Amino acid sequence: MPAKTINDIVALCKRRGFIFTGSEIYGGLGGAYDYGPYGVELMRNIRNAWWNAMVYSRNDVEGLDAAQISNRLMWKYSGHEGGFSDPLVECKKCGARMRQDKMADPTKCDNCGSTDITEPRAYQLMMGLSIGAMADGAINAYLRPETATTTYVNFKNVLDARPHKLPFGIAQIGKAFRNEISPRGFVFRMREFEQAEMQYFVRPDTDEQYFEMWRDARMAWWIDVLGIPAAHLRFTPHEKLAHYAKAAVDIEYEFPDGFAEVEGIHNRQDFDLGSHTKAQNEFKISANVMDNKDSTVKLSYSDPQTGENFIPYVIETAMGVNRAMLAVMHNAYTEEELPDGKSRLVLKLRPKLAPVKAAVIPLARNVPELLDIATNIENDLRRLAIGRIELENSGNIGKNYRRHDEIGTPVCITVDHQTLEDATVTLRLRDTMEQRRIKIDDVPRAVLDIING
Ligand code: ATP
Repeated sequence: MPAKTINDIVALCKRRGFIFTGSEIYGGLGGAYDYGPYGVELMRNIRNAWWNAMVYSRNDVEGLDAAQISNRLMWKYSGHEGGFSDPLVECKKCGARMRQDKMADPTKCDNCGSTDITEPRAYQLMMGLSIGAMADGAINAYLRPETATTTYVNFKNVLDARPHKLPFGIAQIGKAFRNEISPRGFVFRMREFEQAEMQYFVRPDTDEQYFEMWRDARMAWWIDVLGIPAAHLRFTPHEKLAHYAKAAVDIEYEFPDGFAEVEGIHNRQDFDLGSHTKAQNEFKISANVMDNKDSTVKLSYSDPQTGENFIPYVIETAMGVNRAMLAVMHNAYTEEELPDGKSRLVLKLRPKLAPVKAAVIPLARNVPELLDIATNIENDLRRLAIGRIELENSGNIGKNYRRHDEIGTPVCITVDHQTLEDATVTLRLRDTMEQRRIKIDDVPRAVLDIING
């Protein structure tokens, strides 16, 4: 079988309605994509699988959904306004602009091969906004470039609402925006994307232990929940640590062009809570909204037993949801030779991740008796609340199977003339193409078993 390329995935995404180019009819917009009917389902299922593991399966992690637009000062004091940039170089010959640290050879233009390249300059990645009638065009807010900072500034709010002893965490899934110099790799590097990040607050002397715990737990999730074989995943420790980090490791997936980052696990020490505690105190005093230094809010933790007050360390797990979806689709994409010499394309997704859980297909189009039974089965399946169920009334069974193989539907239920005689239907499984007859009454149970694996 031919190697699967990212272009195969792009074509499937467009043809079957997973992902479209953003602003497509007006020529598109670099780094922005729109998710279609099956893309939204797959993204939602990945998000749910993450939330399930990170929040619902534990008693020490709370959820949060912070605003995507935020006060400029927050990003000034977090260090992003001054420091969140990529090294931009320009080719003097062809004018191409490139991110120096991602160039194939930093001494040669990626586009034309010329060696006449400018010195790198820091290129600010945050998207500034000027909001409110009084703004006069000056930047007074930013679209957040990550969810993490919007979690740190809510540390005390969450802890006041849900008192926890350390360690405890705050999980957040949401959009992030970066003015990437060269968006590429389809949804791998976008200007608007989605992150699923969790900040775990620990006692400073336990940071190494929890860093290892989360590093291993996150890798296990990629393997056990997303179903990616361990051979296509690896850890890559950061060679150069950010100034605030004590340890950092990426989880990488083997895409067609090689291994690339899909998630990072970082030991950020007390850098974030510490800088916001310091900064907001300065801010409040200089803005004269707080005349008493001691009454400013500290993003610190008081141990109820010992009375100690200190700034916790943070272990962060930071995943890109779009990159996870791309990896999952790439891993599931399978072209198979069939015994009859034909071939088929099938998306072998974990049933829990599949955009459509089951399709009900009457063998012939618009035959009222068949359609009635199919509609009843569809309604019974809807009642299970397991996700999207589709009824196909085109009468072209071969085409229906092909379509559902390509979008990864784990099971099709076919209603035919025998159904009218003995109240049985054909259950057709995606991966094996095995077909078996079962009673209509047994369909919901059988589908549930398939979805739950
Ligand atoms: P990169 O080195 O690829 O630019 P990063 O190290 O800056 O990524 P983080 O800031 O750690 O990434 O963000 C956490 C996760 O968010 C990444 O592992 C990735 O999955 C995702 N992510 C980051 N930038 C983008 C982007 N531009 N488009 C899509 N996903 C992204």
